[in-house]
Amino acid sequence: MSITVVGSIAFDTVDTPFGGRERMLGGAATHFALAASFFDHVRIVGPVGDDFGEAELDVLRTRGSSIDDVERVTGGKTFFWEGKYGWDLNTRETIDTQLNVFEHFEPKLSDESRACEVLFLANIQPGLQLDVRQQCADARFVALDSMDLWIDIARDELLEVISRIDCLILNDEELRQLTQRPNLVSAAREVLARGPSIIVAKQGEHGAALITKDEFFALPAYPLETVVDPTGAGDTFAGGFVGYISRQLAGGLSSDVLRNAMAYGTALASFNVEGFGTDTVRELSASAIRQRVEDLWRLTRFDHLAVELAE
Ligand code: AMP
Repeated sequence: MSITVVGSIAFDTVDTPFGGRERMLGGAATHFALAASFFDHVRIVGPVGDDFGEAELDVLRTRGSSIDDVERVTGGKTFFWEGKYGWDLNTRETIDTQLNVFEHFEPKLSDESRACEVLFLANIQPGLQLDVRQQCADARFVALDSMDLWIDIARDELLEVISRIDCLILNDEELRQLTQRPNLVSAAREVLARGPSIIVAKQGEHGAALITKDEFFALPAYPLETVVDPTGAGDTFAGGFVGYISRQLAGGLSSDVLRNAMAYGTALASFNVEGFGTDTVRELSASAIRQRVEDLWRLTRFDHLAVELAE
């Protein structure tokens, strides 16, 4: 299957307790594509400025991803984001967001990108996500990510696009913010009633939970002792999750397929946070991913050993 992704392609400046980086390659679509390209052919849609060089385009091309729909805007500046992490990396403050070339971007997808079977609407203005959703009318599986900024300033548009997707992937606090429900399960149920059939609530270092009409499945994050830079962890998770689903879509989305997709997303996200920006996932091997999924499975599986309980 082929996967089309639209979302930010960015320069990121980050400050973490382990050091910082200025204007490193980032963006939701970038992190997603690096992970999803392990599973299927990815086409990246989005604009960049003329400050975006060949070296950055080469990273987007990793594992054969297509950049035919990455539009070079002459005289424009690439999306810029700056964030600062707290001492335990659990809190993040956005210092600056500059939409730049995304401000007037009108996506015109090539026939190949429109014909995708799987579509990922990575984090960007909901209006752009909606536009791309409409262009990829035949996609069989559509997933979406967003963030607090868009819930704050473009909630109605975001709800409109959410009503036209299969799977919503959000941080759990954003899910509560979107639905204005304090309880995660009831927040997820509210979104299920609006159209999507799968909700993934990302919970940072605590892992992620999958909620459908019939099931609730939670997987912890892979236990790492050293986390360097969490930027892009959510998008890398989404790349592993959606990439795995893309490979299995022909056989149907059983509970086992969805659980395995969670494991691949979790494993890939754990590699992402071990280095700055795109450094780790760019260089990763397929065997390292496989090994980590197996470790995760060993760490989390158990057999039910029942005992007599007092009445
Ligand atoms: P994550 O850590 O998975 O939430 O994603 C971080 C990435 O999201 C960074 O590489 C940023 O460039 C990108 N990003 C930050 N803010 C926004 C925004 N408002 N819209 C789109 N992408 C963003």
